[in-house]
Amino acid sequence: MKNNHNFSQIHILDQVTVNQIAAGEVVERPASVVKELVENAIDAAARSIRIDVVSSAEGIVNVRIIDDGCGMTPADALLAFTPHATSKITRIDDLTHIRTLGFRGEALASIASVSRVTLTTRPHATGVVAGTKVVVEGGIIKKTGETGAPEGTTVLVEDLFFNTPARKKFQKSKNTEISHIHALLEGICLAHPEISFRMFTDQNEHLVTDRSPRILDTIARIYGSDVVKELVPVSLSLPFIKISGYTSRPSLSRKDASRLMIAINQRYVSSPVITGAIREGYGTLLPKERFPVAFLSLKIDTELVDVNVHPTKKLVRLSRENEIVQAIRESVTTALLSHDLIPAVRPPLPLLTGESGKDAVIEPGMRYDLTTPASSGVSESTHAGTVTTDRQLRQTELSTGILPVDVKLPLMEVIGQFGGIYILTTTESGELVLIDQHAAHERILYEQVIARTGGDHRSQELIVPVILHRTAQEAAVLLDLIPALAKEGFVFEEFGRDTFLVRAIPVVLGKLEDTTMIDEIVSDLVSQEPARAVNNRERITRIIACRGAIKGGTVCTKEQCQRIVNQIRYAKNPFTCPHGRPTMIRFSRADLDTMFKRT
Ligand code: ADP
Ligand code: MG
Repeated sequence: MKNNHNFSQIHILDQVTVNQIAAGEVVERPASVVKELVENAIDAAARSIRIDVVSSAEGIVNVRIIDDGCGMTPADALLAFTPHATSKITRIDDLTHIRTLGFRGEALASIASVSRVTLTTRPHATGVVAGTKVVVEGGIIKKTGETGAPEGTTVLVEDLFFNTPARKKFQKSKNTEISHIHALLEGICLAHPEISFRMFTDQNEHLVTDRSPRILDTIARIYGSDVVKELVPVSLSLPFIKISGYTSRPSLSRKDASRLMIAINQRYVSSPVITGAIREGYGTLLPKERFPVAFLSLKIDTELVDVNVHPTKKLVRLSRENEIVQAIRESVTTALLSHDLIPAVRPPLPLLTGESGKDAVIEPGMRYDLTTPASSGVSESTHAGTVTTDRQLRQTELSTGILPVDVKLPLMEVIGQFGGIYILTTTESGELVLIDQHAAHERILYEQVIARTGGDHRSQELIVPVILHRTAQEAAVLLDLIPALAKEGFVFEEFGRDTFLVRAIPVVLGKLEDTTMIDEIVSDLVSQEPARAVNNRERITRIIACRGAIKGGTVCTKEQCQRIVNQIRYAKNPFTCPHGRPTMIRFSRADLDTMFKRT
C-alpha cells in the first residue's frame, strides 16, 4: 500500500460491512441461522415452532421458522434488523438475571446481511388486525408494508451467503448440514419440552415433539422407548442448584459424549465440565472408554451463570463450579445406586438364524479377556484348583465387616457353572441370572481393599521374600510407585540394580503359595496404560482386585459358586466390576418364553 501522508488511510467501515463481519461470528453455517431464529421464537413465548429446511443438490438453500409467539408491531419489525436492537436487556446489569436466550441484538441484523430475509409478523392479542412484512436483502431494507398474517412471526431466509462466496464454499454437503440442524434441535427440544417442535426437510417430517410437562415424553419421542427403558431419574435440590432429568443405566452407553444433553436454565449448552461430572458420577460403573447417555436440566441461580462468553452462547461460565460439579456427580451416583442395575437381556436373540442381532441401543464393547480360554460345558475341577479357590473365597469372607443394610440383589440359588466362568442362578422371583465369577469376585475384593483405609492390618509379611528382576525402564516406573504400594500393604525394597525384594503383601491377597501373582501385579503396574482420571491408589486397588480374584476358567464347585453369589449380594455396587463391565445379566421367564416363541 502506498503511503500517502496527505490522506488518511483509516476509514470507518459502513454498517453493511460491519454486519457482514459480525455475521461471521454468529452465522457460521445454516444450523446457526436455525438456532438464532428458533431461540427468538422461544424468547417470544411460542407454544409451537415449525422449521422448514429446503435443500438443493448444492446444499441448503433456504430455511423458514414459523412461531405462534408474541409477534411484533410494525415499528419493532423494522427495528429488529438494526444491529444491537433488542427488547431483552437495557443495561449490562440485566445480564446477571437473564432469562431469555438472546440479548445481543445482533442475530437478525447479521443473518439479513448475508441473505435475503422476509419477516412476516403480527402481535398477539393487541387488536392489531393487519400484519407487517419486511424484506431485507444483503443488509438493505427492500420492502415494508402491511400484509395478512396469523399471530406470531414467520422468518424466511433465502440465498444464504449469496454475497459472501467464501462462506458459501465452506458449506458442507447437504446431509452434513441437515445433521447439524438436527443435532441442534434435539438439544433445544430437550431443553423445552413445553414447546412443540416440528422440523421438515424438503417437506419430509424430520423431527417432531409434542408439548408436554414431562421431559421423558420428549426423550421418548426423539430417541424411542428403548432408550427410555434404560433411564433412571436424577433429582437433587440445593439452594443454588436444582438438578432434574434422567441418566442411563450402565447397560446403555456410548463411545462418545454426544448424548450427554445438558440444559442450564433451559439453554442447551455444551459443557465438558458437566459431562465430566456426570461421568464421574458413574465411578466404576462404566468402563473407562465408555460414556453414559443423560438428559439433565439444571436450574442454577442466574448470577452464577455467565452466558456472555461466547458469540453463540453455546459455552457458559459457571461460578462456584466445584460445588456445581459435586452436586451433579452426587445426584448421578445416588440415582444409579438406588436402582436395580442388572442388565436384562432383550429378546428375541437370534440364536440360530445367523443374524448379527445388532442392537442400535445397547452397544456392548465390553469384552472379557479370559486368562485361560475356558472350554464350554462341564469340566472337572482339580484338587489344587479347588484349594486355591477356597483360599480366595475364605479371604473375602473373613473380611466381610458389618453387612450393609440395603442389599440390592435378590436371593439367588446356584444351578451350576458354565464354561468355568459363568455362574447360573435362579432368583426368588424365578429369573435366570448369569454371573461372571471373575468380575463378581473382583468387585468384592475391590470394595474390601477400598474399605480398609489406614492401619497395619492391611499388610502381611512373606515368610520368604520374593525377588523380582525387571528391565531398567520398568524398574524406574516401579521405583516411583513404591510409596503408593506401601499404602496398600506392599513392602518393596530396592535390591541392587533393577531388582526388588518384596517383603510383604496386602492381607486381602491371602497366604501366597504361588508367587506368580506378585509378578502379575507388578507386570500390570508397569505395563498398563493408566486409565484416564484414575489415580495411583485406584489403579493399584484395581490391579490387586483383578489379580487376587478367582480367575475366569477356574472350575468351581456348586458350593463355591454359592459363596461367590452370597458375597456379591453384599457389595455396595454389585452390578459392575471395578472397570465398569457388568458382573451379571438376567433373563426373565417372559424373556425366555418370547425367545422360545411360547407367547
Ligand atoms: P436478540 O434476540 O438478541 O434480542 P435478535 O436480533 O435475534 O436479537 O432479535 C432482535 C429483536 O427482535 C428481539 O429482541 C425481539 O424483540 C425481536 N424478535 C426477533 N424475533 C422475534 C420473534 N420470532 N418473535 C417476536 N419478536 C422477535
Ligand atoms: Mg435472538
